Amino acid sequence: MEKNGNPPPYGWSNGYMQAPPAAPPSYSQAVGGVGPSSPYTPHYQPTTGPQIVTTVVPLGPQATHMICPSCHGEMNTATQTKPGLIAYIAGSILCILGLFCGCCLIPCCIDSCMDVHHKCPNCGAYLGRYRR
Ligand SMILES: [Zn+2]
Repeated sequence: MEKNGNPPPYGWSNGYMQAPPAAPPSYSQAVGGVGPSSPYTPHYQPTTGPQIVTTVVPLGPQATHMICPSCHGEMNTATQTKPGLIAYIAGSILCILGLFCGCCLIPCCIDSCMDVHHKCPNCGAYLGRYRR
């Protein structure tokens, strides 16, 4: 039983050999190549289909006079104020802070925290909301 095999391959060299610095590429190699052409610019062709004209009326905190996209009737939007996301966040923060004796409902009563939801009074279609 002789286990005198080959020595491990990493044990043969103990000398400090520095690799020769890589030779810089010659200029003819660097310049002679094909230069980068103009950068790729995607061409967006405008679709010339039938244009759908939508009258976007900015919804404000008040009732807005507009044409309902659902029933196409002219009306003033019916507004409804509901506590917005800020009110819920502020309320939950107040709850975490320990003010849970009704104080967490304060943001829901502050007008600036309320979102105004617009609905069509004729057909009841939801038209959007105004976030303060
Ligand atoms: Zn409507």
